[in-house]
Amino acid sequence: MSATTHTHDVIIIGTGLAGTVLSETLALQGLRVLVFDVAQKGSASNVAAGMVNPIVLRRTVPSWRAGEMLAIAGAFYRDLEMRYDTTLWYPFSMAALFPTAQEAGIWQRRLKDPEVAPFLGEEPSKDPAVLAMPQPYAHGTVKRCARLDVRKLIAMHRSRWLASGLLIEQRVDESDIHQLPDGVEVHGNTAPMLVHCKGPFSHSSGLVLVRGEGLTVRIPGLGLNTIVHRGVFILPIGDDVYRIGATFAWDKVWSGPTEEARHYLMDGLQRLITRPIEVLEHWAGVRPASSDRRPILGRTGPHEAIFNGLGSRGVLLAPWCAQHLADHLFKGVALDPEVDLERFAE
Ligand SMILES: Cc1cc2nc3c(=O)[nH]c(=O)nc-3n(C[C@H](O)[C@H](O)[C@H](O)COP(=O)(O)OP(=O)(O)OC[C@H]3O[C@@H](n4cnc5c(N)ncnc54)[C@H](O)[C@@H]3O)c2cc1C
Repeated sequence: MSATTHTHDVIIIGTGLAGTVLSETLALQGLRVLVFDVAQKGSASNVAAGMVNPIVLRRTVPSWRAGEMLAIAGAFYRDLEMRYDTTLWYPFSMAALFPTAQEAGIWQRRLKDPEVAPFLGEEPSKDPAVLAMPQPYAHGTVKRCARLDVRKLIAMHRSRWLASGLLIEQRVDESDIHQLPDGVEVHGNTAPMLVHCKGPFSHSSGLVLVRGEGLTVRIPGLGLNTIVHRGVFILPIGDDVYRIGATFAWDKVWSGPTEEARHYLMDGLQRLITRPIEVLEHWAGVRPASSDRRPILGRTGPHEAIFNGLGSRGVLLAPWCAQHLADHLFKGVALDPEVDLERFAE
């Protein structure tokens, strides 16, 4: 079959955050994209709180390439807001409550570090709901945080792409992928390139699965307008409703919601808030992380590639990763070795 007979330029499997961001990125470049996806229990994007935090709070250092990733992610989601005529991206600041005097001291020193300082606020939060929380060692402020409404983004993308016939709700197994001399064939469609965006349902080398759980709660009258972190995070999503998260567990990753995690999250929350708390939802999903905490991108064959390893910072990393993979696959740009799948080759 010659290249001109292909029905599409790219076929994508999976439309969680990775597949959604990649399909939008490629479509904007004029490529004919077809996506296959089936909803599955444990999918990460369905349960993601959508928080963006440029600081690794345990160590008070910026997350990987935080400044660059933030600029690209902010621009990408803002642009998507315009195309979908909706609001998806909510800027926030975060109050990180110090657990010890020692951590408060480290924070003060970091305020003078030019690498971290752009993300830290000199002033404490003015939010009365933050000031009302018990905080014997005070708190530090992280600037340039945000929340992406991941659920809304994926739902809007799904319905628009389904309506245009660009998304097919059908599972693609390995046996459904047929190799052609110049591409692949999947359920009667052909393309010169297939990208696997299967998140935790992939068997890629280097992939590490991490169970995460969170709660959606209503706390009438709290009026919090800042993200708060103290062991657990509290993320305002409007109308007295908050996302509480998240746990990390490397065992029984497909177990679904557990009493242990619910207890841990409620305990963390009740240490900060004495008001009545109504639990609306209890989430569990599986993060597709990697052993070195970097994304996993690259070719797995002449006509196949992978976009995975978004870990716990998918919102921040996905737009850069999608653009970088597109440049690699369609413009021949070399992959950054830090994200190249090849680093896991035996
Ligand atoms: C509890 C929790 C809270 C989180 N909170 C945050 C947060 O606040 N901020 C943040 O940035 N990140 C957060 N994350 C991480 C974030 O969710 C992930 O980084 C991101 O969603 C991964 O997206 P993905 O597309 O790679 O995987 P997924 O979202 O799992 O998507 C994979 C998709 O591929 C489909 N699929 C797989 N195999 C096939 C097949 N063979 N055929 C058809 N379809 C298939 C699946 O059904 C699914 O729809 C959180 C994760 C969890 C679990």
